Amino acid sequence: MTDKIRFDPGELFLAVEKPSRYTGGEVNAIRKEDGDCRLRFALAFPDAYEVGMSHLGLQILYSVLNGLPQVCCERCYAPWPDMEALLRKRRFPLRSLESQRPLAAFDIVGFSLQYELSYTNVLMMLELGGIPLRREERSEGHPLIIAGGPSAFNPAPMSAFIDAFVIGEGEEAVAEIAAAVMAVRGRGGTRREQIEALAGIAGVYVPAVHTGSERIRKRIITDLDGWRLPLCPVVPLMKTVHDRITLEIARGCTRGCRFCQAGMVWRPVRERTPAVLEEMAEAMLRATGHDEISLLSLSSGDYTLIEPLIETLMNRYYARRVALALPSLRAETLTPKLIDAIRRVRKTSFTLAPEAGTQRLRDVINKGNREEELLTTTERVFAAGWKAVKLYFMLGLPGEREEDLEGIVDLSFKALRTARNRGQVTVSLSTFVPKPHTPFQWQRQIGREETAARQELFRHRLKNRNVTVKWHDARMSLLEVILSRGWEEAGRLIETAFRLGCRFDGWSDRFRYDLWEEAFRRTGIDPVASLRERPLTERFPWERIETGISREFLLSETLRAERGEPTPDCRTGECSRCGVCDHRVIRVITAPADSPVGTLTSAHARGGDGPGMEKTYRLRFTKRGPARFLSHIELSTALGRAIILSGVSFVYSQGFHPHPKISFAGATAVGMESEGEFADIRIQDPGEQPDTLMARINAALPAGVSITAMHELPPHAFSLAEMITGFDYDLILPDDSDRAEFERIEDAIRIFRGADSFGVIRESKGKPVIKDIRPFVVALAMDHSSRRIQLSAHFGSEGTIRPAELLSGALGITPEVLHRTRIVKTGVRLADFAGEGDRKIFSPEVP
Ligand code: SF4
Repeated sequence: MTDKIRFDPGELFLAVEKPSRYTGGEVNAIRKEDGDCRLRFALAFPDAYEVGMSHLGLQILYSVLNGLPQVCCERCYAPWPDMEALLRKRRFPLRSLESQRPLAAFDIVGFSLQYELSYTNVLMMLELGGIPLRREERSEGHPLIIAGGPSAFNPAPMSAFIDAFVIGEGEEAVAEIAAAVMAVRGRGGTRREQIEALAGIAGVYVPAVHTGSERIRKRIITDLDGWRLPLCPVVPLMKTVHDRITLEIARGCTRGCRFCQAGMVWRPVRERTPAVLEEMAEAMLRATGHDEISLLSLSSGDYTLIEPLIETLMNRYYARRVALALPSLRAETLTPKLIDAIRRVRKTSFTLAPEAGTQRLRDVINKGNREEELLTTTERVFAAGWKAVKLYFMLGLPGEREEDLEGIVDLSFKALRTARNRGQVTVSLSTFVPKPHTPFQWQRQIGREETAARQELFRHRLKNRNVTVKWHDARMSLLEVILSRGWEEAGRLIETAFRLGCRFDGWSDRFRYDLWEEAFRRTGIDPVASLRERPLTERFPWERIETGISREFLLSETLRAERGEPTPDCRTGECSRCGVCDHRVIRVITAPADSPVGTLTSAHARGGDGPGMEKTYRLRFTKRGPARFLSHIELSTALGRAIILSGVSFVYSQGFHPHPKISFAGATAVGMESEGEFADIRIQDPGEQPDTLMARINAALPAGVSITAMHELPPHAFSLAEMITGFDYDLILPDDSDRAEFERIEDAIRIFRGADSFGVIRESKGKPVIKDIRPFVVALAMDHSSRRIQLSAHFGSEGTIRPAELLSGALGITPEVLHRTRIVKTGVRLADFAGEGDRKIFSPEVP
């Protein structure tokens, strides 16, 4: 890929679905000046923007790295297939969001490996970024490719492509990596010397250097209270998987579920104290304008002070319409108080994970929760008003018998009965995957046929109109075990699958198992062999990685599983000597039971709360630069958030899901710039001058959106929709348009103006319809010197014209030229309610 070809991001963004995946310019995104950068660090997430932006780890590392002087950290997400195809066609390299810099122009590219099924996307991003896939093919001038995240706990399958793996928690390690690389570069050291320097950092595994029997010990942040990050997370412009603040209340889990890799590798439990969490929540709300806080940990209900913490946060933020979410709740931790707290803000589906159908099998896997607890919880949840409960189970768990499958059926119906004919149960079934570093790492995984047979059973046995059965694709589980337990040779498989076209393998609608089957054939890797049970003497590729948990502990847990013996939680029971803690620096840290809760006094939390005098304001704002690629919904969300961030309190609609009172003067298309958009907002009397408010709102708006006027409306003022009669546009042709093209367009304009009607094909409710656009064109002219077509359009109850359909339908502009044509709304016309003729309320000349 070359960057010498003229790069026009607009041309790319206009040609793909969801351009705001690529534009950057979000609130809290950091773009440092070139002069401030000694080290350029790209954080690369091998999945779509909307997935990556919901990931806390990336936000934390972004804060850490940009907090370092002379380090510029930017982000890059996997381009969706439409964008990949376009980049390849136009021979443009993949770029970062912040500075639109090609990935190859960074000093370090750091991948987050969250899931084995994103490995082909790593290769896609490297290739599109102009970086050789294999580490031995890279030379001076190529960035260092590093990777971290849960999948790095078995680095073997990706070791052909990654120069260095960060094992464990990365906050401290990334800063040390940045410092080491800057030091070597500062004295003119080579790429090889930089890689060797990385090998000297604790927790960093470098395949080219660590070729002996060295073992790499994972990094641990021993005291989470010392790391209050991120306080200013980047706020996505588009809708993402989790559009909310993630408040990490604890790391690690000591419940000891024997199938759970996260529960093993992220030990020990470390909780933040409530006072720190309250400060973090406050700071993040102030910095983002989000309206939901998610309390994150592997098991939120286990947090020592969960009830007082939730009560405090609810009391503080409920009036500000900030919701609380508690994912990862275990049934036995759900007290009536917690259910009530969650009920106050959300009543969508409620998820519980019994994992196995009988108590015997739950003891084998050390899941711990009992049927009575689960059913008491579902009863409380349904009684509290929830209409649906989701139950997660795994198929093919070690020691599974037929009675355990019957147990799933039995438990599902018992849960349904607790709804007393007022609810639904969704049973979600996935195939057990034996994961590295767990007591079940030696176990076999059932094959596709065995999964299919079990699915067939449930299809018949769970037939009920109030029960829905969903299952995870067994072929994905098969691939997951091949890649998670794989040796270095799995790298050939990943590369072959990538070359065959595999991308986004974790997305069921993108997953091409036929291509993976072809990759198995070409590499001679037998997928079925990967399922087999391993003898306890077998050595694994991940044994060079030390999670701290001893092999002896894993083996003893395997034997206890065979005997169905539970192992107690060391948070409440005694230490089971898993090996992670040194009991001095590394140890279980729980928030002391007498920790102060609710001590924060916050102006943001109280300011403007409660009923006051209501006022309506009309805002005029721009949509320029990267903001022109925002959809109407994205733009309105950004404006709403900025208003909340400024400390102004909206007036909300009534109902179960209250919405802030904000209305717009129609939607401006994706790609169109505007010098004057309008919105009316109804807010509690802010008691401040509009200029002061405007400045505060502008400070929280994404790049390209800026309020240029704000005034209070008298009571009973006409709405924007009632007043607007038309728009003015400048349609600016690309600078490589020639005279012949201008003359052709001029002829087309002449014909159009002379016509009484002009039909174009428009899509309406998914069907093509012919629309006469001629009545909507008030004036149309061409100005050669500025390459612009000036359009005045009528707007009314019968609709208006879309500038793009005039350009392509009436003036014969090709799609390629259309994508490079700037469409700028320059003016808005208002109705003549005073008998003075239509008034232009905004134009560049009339501010
Ligand atoms: S060493 Fe003991 S206290 Fe520490 S995590 Fe392991 S079992 Fe728990």
